[in-house]
This record gives sequence, C-alpha cells and structure tokens, in this order.
Amino acid sequence: MRVIDLIHKNKKTAFSFEILPPLKGTGIEKLYQTVDTLREFDPQYINITTHRSEYVYKDLGSGMFQRYRLRRRPGTVAVAAAIQNKYGITVVPHILCSGFTREETEYVLLDLQFLNITDLLVLRGDKARHEASFIPETDGYRHAIELQGQINDFNRGIFVDGSEIKATNTPFSYGVACYPEKHEEAPNMEADLHWLRRKVEAGAEYAVTQLFYDNRKYFRFVEMAREAGIDIPIIPGIKPFKKLSQLNTIPKTFKVDLPEELVAEVVKCKDDEAARQVGVEWCVRQCRELTRSGVPSIHFYSVGAADSIREVAKAIY
Ligand code: FAD
Repeated sequence: MRVIDLIHKNKKTAFSFEILPPLKGTGIEKLYQTVDTLREFDPQYINITTHRSEYVYKDLGSGMFQRYRLRRRPGTVAVAAAIQNKYGITVVPHILCSGFTREETEYVLLDLQFLNITDLLVLRGDKARHEASFIPETDGYRHAIELQGQINDFNRGIFVDGSEIKATNTPFSYGVACYPEKHEEAPNMEADLHWLRRKVEAGAEYAVTQLFYDNRKYFRFVEMAREAGIDIPIIPGIKPFKKLSQLNTIPKTFKVDLPEELVAEVVKCKDDEAARQVGVEWCVRQCRELTRSGVPSIHFYSVGAADSIREVAKAIY
C-alpha cells in the first residue's frame, strides 16, 4: 500500500521511522536490531536514506595524497528490499539528485520496480563535504523538482532518452522534504513555500519535515503552507535529543534552533544519560501535543536514537 494510503487509512497518528544504510564494510544486523527494537509500535513504513559518494584523501606519506571517491553508506536499494522481505513493512528509499546522473537514477528506478518497491522520498540531497554549495552532477539535477520530472516521465513510460518503456509497472508514488524553520539556502520562508508548492503541483503526495524541537514552529509552518495553497499531509519529523554535545551539533547540522526551555534543562545535566532522559521527556511532550493536534503520522529519525524512540513510542502508541 502507498504511504499516502497508509497515512489516510490510519485513524490514529501513524508511527514511522528512518534508518541509514550500514557503513561500507559493516553488516546489516545492527539495522535489523533497530527495526526489531521499534517493530512493536506497528511502523506503517520505514524510510532508508541515501548517501552520495565523497572525495577522500589517502595519505601516501612524504606529503603525497591520493584522492579517490568513496560511498561510505552504499546499499539503499538492497537495504530497502531486505527490510521489505524480512518484515513485510512498506519501505521508502530516498532518491537524490546529489551525486547521481540521470542514467544512474534510471537504473535505480528499474531496480526498484523489479523489487516491487514503489514508494520514494524525492530529494535534492546534501552537498558533498568538499563543496561550498551544492553542485549537480554534469548530467544530473539541481533541484528535487527536476528529479520528480524524471520519475513522472518514468511513470508515463518514458526513459530519459525519450524511448518507450515497454513493460507496464506500478507507478512510483512519492513524498518530498520541507523545512518548518526554512531551508538554509532559501532567501525567506515565502520563497521556500513557493518551491514546496511547485513540488506538490509536480506530484508530491506528502511532505516530511526536517527535525524540529519547537512545535510552535511546526504549527506555524503548516498554517503558512495552507495559506500558500499547499494541502498535502505535512508529516512532522522528530528526533529525541540525545547527548550534551548536540547542544551545538544539532543547530549546526540541521539548521534548526533548540528552544530555550530545552536548553535550560539540558545544561543542568551532569552527563549524557541525564541529557538523554531530558530528551526523551521533551520528545514525549512534543509527540503528545502533535498527536492531540491530529497530525497524520510522526516520523522518527532513528540514527543513534532507537532506544530513546522506543521509550517515546511506549508513552505515545
Ligand atoms: P530542493 O527541493 O531542491 O530545495 C533546496 C533549496 O532550493 C530550497 O531552499 C528551496 O526553496 C530551493 N528550491 C527548490 N526548488 C527550486 C527551483 N526549482 N529553483 C530555485 N530554487 C529552488 N539528504 C541526503 O543526502 N540523503 C537523504 O537521504 C536525505 N533525507 C532527507 C529526509 C528528509 C525528511 C529531509 C527533510 C531532508 C533529507 N536530506 C537528505 C537532506 C536534504 O537533501 C537537504 O536538506 C537538501 O539541502 C535539500 O533537499 P530538498 O529535497 O529539500 O531540495
């Protein structure tokens, strides 16, 4: 069943979460542990992130370095298939502009169709570490909406070279990303909402938010989106605060603010375990309020936080 149908059929707030493919050279068992930890809360779907390749430098000694490309977390399609087969839960692989050419994307779409995986989250993707700002591949895309165009063509039976796809398949359904505290590159919220509306007009069935810790920002964002004519479900993305160092790393990495009240509680903590407990309590309060407000689904970012999410989910679901 498509994610949009799963959301609509659910009378109560649905539970879903996101996982990262394992680091290259490590096994899939840890991912299964995460799924096992969270399975009892009846996840309606599980997202699997995608990570582009990066340039890395190998120290050859004597001041010499060798530059090569490395994908630290390959395997999104395989992880999605493995989880779908093992657990029978709908999977949503992320599909990116970043680091992929149109042709590579086409092969990913073909693989996914053979595997009967037809839900996607369509994203531009993060810039490479060495880039000051996002640079598309030579034969790639600059924005998620362009990638939506390729997927829409694929759904209509047209390959990137204009030739016809002979087999008829289940079309892809997809969601996109959105940002209650604005995407870092958008000049203002109005511009960001303009592009979100365009992504909806291009076929996005729902949007998942960047993580946030202040529900007022989410509620205000939904209000502004509705005023801008965006009527799709806007699914809150949530991650429990986990450790003291996140006071600095969360704002820096995700370009979001931590509310004063949360910061005041965390700075009183003597160690990471105390901070984690504050994070769980904060997250439970956030989720209770979101659930009461009737959000269709809460989507949890699980990396490094499966145990906290389990505690939160026990209180909410
Ligand atoms: P876009 O929709 O392309 O938007 C990027 C910026 O450009 C925005 O400021 C927007 O306002 C503007 N814009 C949009 N379209 C146009 C246009 N046509 N012309 C001019 N401006 C435009 N990153 C990963 O690498 N892998 C992942 O798996 C991943 N998963 C994510 C999941 C979620 C739920 C979220 C919220 C983010 C995720 N990201 C992931 C990060 C995301 O890819 C980055 O935030 C990226 O910088 C923007 O992606 P986007 O799809 O929102 O881009």
